[in-house]
Parts: sequence; C-alpha cells; structure tokens
Amino acid sequence: MSHNAESTAFRSALDVIRAVEPRVADAISAELADQRESLKLIASENYASPATLLAMGNWFSDKYAEGTVGRRFYAGCQNVDTVEALAAEHAKELFGAAHAYVQPHSGIDANLVAFWAILADRVESPALKKAQKRQVNDLTEADWFALRRELGNQRMLGMSLDAGGHLTHGFRPNISGKMFDQRSYGTDPATGLIDYDRVAEAAREFTPLILVAGYSAYPRKVNFRIMREIADSVGATFMVDMAHFAGLVAGKVFTGDFDPVPHAHIVTTTTHKSLRGPRGGMVLCGPELADQVDRGCPMVLGGPLPHVMAAKAVALAEARRPDFADYARRIVDNAQALADGLLRRGATLVTGGTDNHLVLIDVSGYGLTGRQAEQALLDSGIVTNRNAVPQDPNGAWYTSGIRIGTPALTTRGLGAAEMDATAELIHTVLTQTSAGTGPDGAPSKAKYVLDPATAESVGKQAADLLTPFPLYPEVTLA
Ligand code: PLP
Repeated sequence: MSHNAESTAFRSALDVIRAVEPRVADAISAELADQRESLKLIASENYASPATLLAMGNWFSDKYAEGTVGRRFYAGCQNVDTVEALAAEHAKELFGAAHAYVQPHSGIDANLVAFWAILADRVESPALKKAQKRQVNDLTEADWFALRRELGNQRMLGMSLDAGGHLTHGFRPNISGKMFDQRSYGTDPATGLIDYDRVAEAAREFTPLILVAGYSAYPRKVNFRIMREIADSVGATFMVDMAHFAGLVAGKVFTGDFDPVPHAHIVTTTTHKSLRGPRGGMVLCGPELADQVDRGCPMVLGGPLPHVMAAKAVALAEARRPDFADYARRIVDNAQALADGLLRRGATLVTGGTDNHLVLIDVSGYGLTGRQAEQALLDSGIVTNRNAVPQDPNGAWYTSGIRIGTPALTTRGLGAAEMDATAELIHTVLTQTSAGTGPDGAPSKAKYVLDPATAESVGKQAADLLTPFPLYPEVTLA
C-alpha cells in the first residue's frame, strides 16, 4: 500500500527511532493518538503543520551558531544563516516590523531578551555595558554587585496576574520580579476591562522604565495606541508581549490601534500559540533597539536552535498565506460562538464575552473552584485549564476560573455549530459537578463529585464532535 508524503515521512522517522528505543517511538505515536482524541480547549496550544514539525527533526540540531546572521562565533554556519535570515524576513514582512530576532527558545526567553535590551539602551550602567560587550566571564563580584545595585531601582508597570497578565511581567516567582521593582494595573471591577485612565494614573505615580501590555488570560482587545501615549507621557519604553494573540495580529484581525507592532518600541511573542508554529519565541523592534536585541545570545539565551529556526521560517511562511487570515478570523468567530453558547446557558464570563481567542468562565456561580471544574471537565474528555479571575478569592492555585481557547479546535476545522455543542457539554459538566469534602468532612477546594456515567456520556459526545474533523488527516501511522 502506498502512502502520501507526510505519512511516509512520519512512519519512516518512527521506524528509525523504534530501532534504537522503541519506547520513545511508542510514546510519540501515543501522543498523536491522545491529541487526536482530545477536545483541546487550552488557549495557549495549537497544532503545527506537518511541514513545521518535520523541519525540526534534522541535522540543524547538531549545529552551534552563537551570534547573528553573517557574524557567528562558530564556523560553518552558512545554512543556519539561510534559515535564520528567512525566518526573520518572513517575520518582518508578516508583522511589518523593522527588525526581527528569531533565536529566543520560548516566550519567557524572548521577554528576557527584551528586558536586557531595554536596560542596556536606557540605563547608564558601566557594569551592564561591560556585560553587554560579551565580557560576562570577566565580570568580577564587585561588577555584579554594581550591576544589581544599578538595576535595582528600575521599575516595570504591567498587567496584574489576576487580571490576566503573565508571570514574566514583573512577578516574584520570575526573574523579572527580581530585576524590576514592579507595580501592576488591573481591570475595572465592574466591567472587567482595562481602565486606561487608571493605567495613566499608575504610570504618572510610578514613572516606570518599562510599560508592559499583553496577557495570558484577558479576553478582550487592548488599545495599544492609548498605551503608547501613556508610555510616552512618562518617558517609558512601551513593550507588548503578544505571545497569546500573535496569530490574530498576523491574520490581520487585530489592526490599527489593536496591532501592537506600529505602536510599541518592542514586541515579544511565542511562535507556538495562535501563530501555530514550533515551540519558540521571537522579538520584533525598530532599529534603535535592534543591536541590543541581537545580543540576546549569549547574554540571556543559550546557543540558538537552528532546527527550530528552520521550523519558524516554515510556519511564518504559512502565516503569510491568505488562508491564514481566514483561520485567524475563524478563531475569533469560534471564541465568540463559544462565549454566546455559554452565556445563553447561564454561565458568567469575565468581561461578559470575548473579542479574541479566549473565554474566561467564572465557575464560582456553579459552586466550584477552578481546580474542581478543570478536573471534572478533564474526566469528561474536555481539556481546559484553571485560571484566576480578577480579585480571585481562591488564589492562583485553586482559582475560580476556567480558561478556554479556540486556536487548536479551529485548526481542526470545527466551527460555530460545534462551539455551541461544546458550550452545552461544558455547561452539562459544570452543572452536574458539586464540590466535595475532605477526609474530615470539611469542604474541599480540590475534591468534587461527578457521576461517572455523566462524565462518560459527555466524553462520548466530545469524541463524536471531533470525528468529522480528524487531526492531521494526511498522516496515517498504522
Ligand atoms: N508571555 C505570555 C503572555 C504567555 O502567555 C506565555 C505562556 O504562557 C509566555 C510569555 C511564556 O511562553 P513560553 O512558555 O514559551 O516561555
């Protein structure tokens, strides 16, 4: 029996791996099977194309390529130069950016590159200048002390975690919270929306070096023109982390005031969420910050991953095709259909709806914590993740919210009708689940009660919903 190119490629790769460590080959096959069967509503996940996946499994993985295109610290980087330049070119064209740095290994790494670039650009620190000149190994203890002292009073204003901001926007468990004196802006308690007057007020009081916009769990558009005006009014560098919504910018759903690229001094992103590329990060900026950004490796990054840069070039080429704009539009249409379906069934949504790829359900109305709801949904074949809601009484671990997103299901081809059916399944699980008790009979924030028959029936319906939309239909492994 003959196979198409994708099936042949993946089958052959698995055969080669199986000959060395069959358990790895089996785990890879099992991962495909699991992903095919799951109703994936994790807002930060997607399915990269076979071409993107295949671009990562090759000899580029063997190459060291510290430096930038045409200026490497290792010999023999001509082919790495080709793919890095291609990825950067596609990124610049796609987003209309003057400069693109495609080496960051992840979104967090991209943010670190941006922070160091801004510090190097803005802070008069001889110790930092020395570090930036690739003399990190020459820094004495006294230099490091001076560096920490000189950076210690740098201020960052970002969106609060419980309003949907990200850990790397200055929060304690992340290095950004140690590098920067941080303050956050939240959302209006009545509407759940960013109150730009309050942001401006906080900026005036705090005079941050960096104003950060961008989020992991805010279901609305952000007006980047207004945010830039606020940054300018206090002399801050305006940084946007578009990790979550880069696909909507690439697909021209977010344009004008809602496109961060023309408004921000520097933009960071992941490449694997709504952008549908390989796991990785990227930084876009104007010429002023380009030199500093290009020093990301080895300042804060390990050696570049040329195989991932090759995959970024493929995925960015895909995102430049006209059908990607249609995909991005459908992501938002689906999120709105899902939100409408949930609202019609009585759910409470943070901000009352969505205009991006994600929906945040406040599950306290069902008498549940986010942890209980997440597990009950998982038992029923629906993969989501718990998330804090603004002013969450249950904190960041148990939470009161469930975050759901549509990039992955939209890649599979599901549309508005399936989103309504998904809303019905979520509603069924949440209404049929009740909070459980601990061994001592006290109320528990983790335990829950859901009739296994309900979970099974919903799981079956979820699987049926996916049947007409096979994942990677071009790939048959068996
Ligand atoms: N920035 C934002 C806004 C995110 O939501 C995330 C991931 O969830 C990141 C950065 C970090 O991305 P990564 O996991 O690739 O480091």
